[in-house]
Amino acid sequence: MAKPRTFSGIQPSGELHLGNYLGAIKNWVADQEHYENFFCIVDQHAVTVPQDPKLLRERTRSLFALYLACGLKLEYCVLFVQSHVPAHTELAWLFATITPMNWAERMIQYKEKKEKQGEETSVGLFSYPILQAADILLYQPKYVPVGEDQRQHIELCRDIARRFNDRFGQTFVIPEAFIRPQGARIMSLTDGTRKMSKSDPSEFSRIHLLDSPDAIRKKIQKAKTDSIRGITFDDPARPEAHNLLTIYMLTSGKSKEEVAAECAEMGWGQFKPLLADSIIATLEPIQKRYQELWSDPGYLHELMRENAAKARAVAEQTLQKVRDAMGFLSLEGSLT
Ligand code: ATP
Ligand code: MG
Repeated sequence: MAKPRTFSGIQPSGELHLGNYLGAIKNWVADQEHYENFFCIVDQHAVTVPQDPKLLRERTRSLFALYLACGLKLEYCVLFVQSHVPAHTELAWLFATITPMNWAERMIQYKEKKEKQGEETSVGLFSYPILQAADILLYQPKYVPVGEDQRQHIELCRDIARRFNDRFGQTFVIPEAFIRPQGARIMSLTDGTRKMSKSDPSEFSRIHLLDSPDAIRKKIQKAKTDSIRGITFDDPARPEAHNLLTIYMLTSGKSKEEVAAECAEMGWGQFKPLLADSIIATLEPIQKRYQELWSDPGYLHELMRENAAKARAVAEQTLQKVRDAMGFLSLEGSLT
């Protein structure tokens, strides 16, 4: 029996943070051997908001190395860069022609990012979820493992796939979002009601996967807290406490009950160093592998090239079905 496929991606729009790791990559790694996985570095999504060209190139390479350093294995996963597979943008255009404007207008992330971009908001930012639908559907995955913030985008992707199948005949598998309840939404260290995000202007809002132990200690030290005694989960009035305990739970590998019992009577002065140590210990092996990979750019380049070829072969097959179904004249085969 063939393994079910998965597809997911991360933008090289900034440095990877604990939210990306605990909400996405860690779960990809844990489950990888049960699936045939496609993990993309979505650089064409990153440019929907302004990026420095030199930095974008560097972050793309760095994210590829981080995927490997976090434990994704090439025997189970195809790791590739979106702009190396031209089928993504072609399919996005075709999907744009069947997607009603009002479906895209409803997207919460568009509305949020538009706030920040103001008059500079691009057409690309608006059509971002349509490109994302193309990214996913090209690989015909059964599951899309993501964090909670992507739920609405995956719903749109499913609507586009259904609409295409209805109009042009059965072409796409309808994928399902695969969202783990724990870690699906890691919050900002400076505001427990907002998600941790690469594009947040404050460095102190997030822990980067490549932060030094000193930087991690400093950021945790400065993290927003409250003045209520003890540290407890699930209190709506204490979003920061819930978030920091969740990070501790996921980095220490302890259960929620264990953490709740351990920290119930603690003060922040006792808890924060414990949390910092737990994060540092989680990131240390990743950082070590990353440094090894980063020191061999030729090897990384060769892996990128091989994996792009694998992704192209699968994507091109789906795209050809789409072209045929929609009625584009082919230069191959018979004249009928
Ligand atoms: P940006 O701010 O540029 O949108 P981002 O931090 O949201 O960046 P993405 O590249 O958009 O990161 O998302 C990559 C993956 O990480 C997605 O699966 C997303 O659901 C997940 N993710 C992002 N932020 C969090 C978070 N705070 N908690 C859990 N998962 C997250
Ligand atoms: Mg995002």
